[in-house]
Amino acid sequence: MSEMRIRPRQVLILIIVFLVILLIVHRNGKHTCQGPEFLQAIYARDNEKSLPKIYAITPTYTRPSQKAELTRLSHIFMLLSNLHWVIIEDANTTTPVVRNLLRQAGLSERSTHLNIKTPVGYKLKNKDPNWLKPRGVEQRNLALNWIRTNVNPEQRSVIFFMDDDNSYSVELFVEMMKIEPGRVGVWPVGLVGGLMVEKPILNEDNTHVIGFNAAWRPERPFPIDMAAFAISTDLLFKYPQAQFAYEVERGYQESEILRHITTREKLQPLANNCRDVLVWHTRTEKTNLVSEVKLNKEGKRSDEGMEV
Ligand code: UDP
Ligand code: MN
Repeated sequence: MSEMRIRPRQVLILIIVFLVILLIVHRNGKHTCQGPEFLQAIYARDNEKSLPKIYAITPTYTRPSQKAELTRLSHIFMLLSNLHWVIIEDANTTTPVVRNLLRQAGLSERSTHLNIKTPVGYKLKNKDPNWLKPRGVEQRNLALNWIRTNVNPEQRSVIFFMDDDNSYSVELFVEMMKIEPGRVGVWPVGLVGGLMVEKPILNEDNTHVIGFNAAWRPERPFPIDMAAFAISTDLLFKYPQAQFAYEVERGYQESEILRHITTREKLQPLANNCRDVLVWHTRTEKTNLVSEVKLNKEGKRSDEGMEV
């Protein structure tokens, strides 16, 4: 009877073949994980340090869906190393939910965590003690102050107002990197103002904005959403008075900051000549907690010891 014998040399060869296959599979895996072409292109072309920094300004407030919203946003920061997150809580103190999220996402070094509560407008014309000043004004102005104090005016950078509940494509941030010094970049926003898309209208050569398609208050100086533009930071230093204001009518905050720093003619159209939608004004529905409230009445809760 012939006996099958495996020699030590054969074992060694088998191990080597196995390792080579493992290496090939691993490499291919890495290749497919490199992400979309537009990202590969910018990181290959530019040394990371030469990319303009983007300061994303996010006012946020405590509610059941807050962590879900911020988690969605944090994934964009993980994909783009030149983003800095200025996150401002509408609260009297910063909260553990936001603090933990920034730490767990590895963003402690690339974020600035601030807080300021929207004050109650006691002395305003309707004298209603529960009337709140417009939301986001105090928080965005605090962020603008932080930028004017902490950002190097010589360094090329861009600021963007990134509300926490919208949906953003990573590609939008790649577009922002094209904003020229002294200019404000603009693009379409999906699902806003009662339309599928609100967008700038360009001249025949696609070089200039000549109007907007807004249906809601089209008479505004800049009838666009907060998510429709980003500003080259040098403009903030050139126009130190540019900020948001309480006195303006609903829907006029965008025009309020933009009127100080630019004109319609100077806007820089982006996103494939304003034909691509890379941001959507989504809104999260109010969380239904009827059963949670019943539990609470019995002294219990579903999230005991958990952060949701
Ligand atoms: N926000 C805030 N305090 C509030 C309500 C809203 O800081 O009391 C923030 C919110 O988290 C978001 C931004 O302000 O980042 C705009 O608010 P919202 O999305 O509710 O506005 P809308 O979608 O109606 O424009
Ligand atoms: Mn919103």
